[in-house]
Amino acid sequence: MPNYCDICCLAFEENRCPVCGRKSARSVQPDDMCFLTEQEALWSGMLADVLAQNDIPFVQKNVLGAGVSLTIGSMLERVRFYVFYKHLPKAEEIVEELFSPSDEEDDDENQEEQC
Ligand SMILES: [Zn+2]
Repeated sequence: MPNYCDICCLAFEENRCPVCGRKSARSVQPDDMCFLTEQEALWSGMLADVLAQNDIPFVQKNVLGAGVSLTIGSMLERVRFYVFYKHLPKAEEIVEELFSPSDEEDDDENQEEQC
């Protein structure tokens, strides 16, 4: 059974949380919210759609505050997704399919094809 960090909402196999280093992690429970992935705002809508289609409940948290995104533009905003631990394997599969690094356009940062 993996451990779980309440602070980071992260499930992991190590003894201590790899993000905050906290040692007093507990065993993860099926209904714990677990960090799934962080995506650009551009892609978060697509991921949200696919998760909903697969009946996977999720929580989205914007990484940058609204004030910041007004200044630098919402396209640069990033969104974190959290799902229940019991849905994590399926959700990770979906993320892998959607955001596979084998995509040749992966390092093309210009989204000029967008209308
Ligand atoms: Zn942590």
